[in-house]
Amino acid sequence: MSTENLASYAVSEAVSRGRVYAEPGPTGRSGFQRDRDRIIHSTAFRRLEYKTQVFINHEGDLFRTRLTHSLEVSQLSRSMARALGLNEELAEAIALAHDLGHTPFGHAGQEALDVCMKAHGGFEHNLQSLRIVDLLEERYAAFDGLNLMYETREGILKHCSLTHARELGDIGERFIADLRPSLEAQVVNLADEIAYNNHDVDDGLRAGLITLEQLEEVDIFAAARRAAVEEWPGLSGRRLIHETIRRMVNEMVVDLVDETRANLAASGVQTLTDVHHAPRLAAYSAALSPRLHELKAFLHGKLYRHYQVRRTTGKARRIIKDLFGAFLADPHLLPPRHQARAVVDKARAIADYIAGMTDRYALKEHRRLFEVEEIY
Ligand code: MG
Repeated sequence: MSTENLASYAVSEAVSRGRVYAEPGPTGRSGFQRDRDRIIHSTAFRRLEYKTQVFINHEGDLFRTRLTHSLEVSQLSRSMARALGLNEELAEAIALAHDLGHTPFGHAGQEALDVCMKAHGGFEHNLQSLRIVDLLEERYAAFDGLNLMYETREGILKHCSLTHARELGDIGERFIADLRPSLEAQVVNLADEIAYNNHDVDDGLRAGLITLEQLEEVDIFAAARRAAVEEWPGLSGRRLIHETIRRMVNEMVVDLVDETRANLAASGVQTLTDVHHAPRLAAYSAALSPRLHELKAFLHGKLYRHYQVRRTTGKARRIIKDLFGAFLADPHLLPPRHQARAVVDKARAIADYIAGMTDRYALKEHRRLFEVEEIY
């Protein structure tokens, strides 16, 4: 059903490397649709609602959470996959799963947990996403994890070190052989970037951490704003911001689709195997790249390093470090299910527990462990 009208270089279910545990095929939906559905029903997916990227979850109800971010990535991925004749269902499944492994408190949480895990193999959210779908979700009698199709798992694992790749079996092979992932995975990777570069501008403005005046120095924003005002003279406030961001998103999507199409034509790529052996084909044009770079540099300098953001991330780092230290010193403080895992690998079980926490759960657990008034 779903593999009709796919380009010859798309991932088709007919040539899928399948699932680790053999299962009867689904009825009424494709294998990749089943993957998407399993991801949506997972515990880790539901928790994305209470995890954040830049802002802490309770800072405001209007900001993106990892859940709404993942939905935006999924929307962009599906649009671009369709435009390129790729497998839209696979792109959707990868997009919805791409952030499952994130710790509480966004990048600050991930960095802090990685520091805590330095002597125990490190922590990487990307690997953790794969670990969740392969191992940590407990939903099926017959196997651990979600038993997703190989191509979905391959797309989730965007990058990993050679050391880790060697431990991962077939899913690590492409890193050792230096092969590219499917175009569906490449597109999702860039859709992720398009989503956060744009919604961080929106959320940053809404939070009052960055201003329209500052953004006038960023060419891609200024140009989109000029175009919006030209079409709608006198437009101001939220509508102007949305019309501006809408134009930026559109410019990035159209550029990416056109450039990728041109790369496909120039490379002579015909099959999925060709995709694996070719250089990365999903890319922005040479004209757009520096303008995107300027936007990213602006967000890094003015938003992610804003003193108010830094105060929050500083606290987040301390909370993760405190939790990890307390559990490592006494694993009997862990809830029973995690204690059982800690018998096998203490540090990894603690990291799995902490990474699974939502922002507010981590705050609560910190209070329960460190504040004498908080008993249970
Ligand atoms: Mg993301």
